[in-house]
Amino acid sequence: MREFDWIARYFRPLTLGYESALNLQDDAALISVPDGQQLVITTDTLIEGVHFLVDTAPADIARKALAVNLSDLAAMGAAPYAYSLALSIPKNTTDEWIKSYSDALHAMQNMYGCFLLGGDSIASPAGISITITAYGLVNHGAALTRSAGVAGDALYVTGTIGDGFLGLHALENHHAAPELIARYLYPHARIAIAQQLAPNIHACMDISDGLMQDLGHICAASDVGAAIGLHDVPLSDAAHDYIHQHRIPLTSLCSGGDDYELLFSAPSHARIPNAIDGVAITKIGELTSDKIMRVFDENNQLIVLDKKGYQHF
Ligand SMILES: [Mg+2]
Repeated sequence: MREFDWIARYFRPLTLGYESALNLQDDAALISVPDGQQLVITTDTLIEGVHFLVDTAPADIARKALAVNLSDLAAMGAAPYAYSLALSIPKNTTDEWIKSYSDALHAMQNMYGCFLLGGDSIASPAGISITITAYGLVNHGAALTRSAGVAGDALYVTGTIGDGFLGLHALENHHAAPELIARYLYPHARIAIAQQLAPNIHACMDISDGLMQDLGHICAASDVGAAIGLHDVPLSDAAHDYIHQHRIPLTSLCSGGDDYELLFSAPSHARIPNAIDGVAITKIGELTSDKIMRVFDENNQLIVLDKKGYQHF
């Protein structure tokens, strides 16, 4: 592997000349946190065959690896600042692969306003593995957390639920569903939306492992329960068509992963807009004091879900 050539040609330009990256010439980066702000740090690893399919294009891997990390910054109400990258790739990885990968990172940086701080690359004996650590900034004390939910809060989600899960289903089963596949491959981090909502909301997280499982995390952290209406969960037109065509139960969309939408609670009197920047914001239920999670169908009958979401182990 031509690690030092790659750093000079493909990765050093991604520092955009920011001083904290020290031109990728030192053993570590150096971050000065502006007065009155806190550093928000998150790490996510993506592994070939687990988080993306074998033979996924390098640009698609790069976009997803950075987006899922930025989505975690969004969940905390933070603005992206920088990221570091650990890249484990097979020995025979080509220059073209690295170029395409770094070009996609560059485009993502421009979109979200961040730069590369540092990282590492390793020759992997088996498949590709990408670890990105993202650093964000938030005003002191203003970070959103999962534990700030209060019984009686209304529960909301941004965007639509289940598209990423169905996109993966379409890829794996060779079904034509370009919109859903795009949602699976190119998740959006809801950075600007979270920052706009932040002053008016309580608990917040991003949905990565499935709506129900992630709602369980808010309930556990906030020591509350929740009641949601299955038919209040917003679906895209493409998802509606797809589940009808392939007879996929609505409940599986609430346990599928890869949404990367925000799930948040807000006081019932808070004024939450119906949409921000063209992304819908939909009330799906409320937090309850009885510490039980309940899902109701359109006739207000309790539904039993068999699987909560994506399990890591
Ligand atoms: Mg998350």
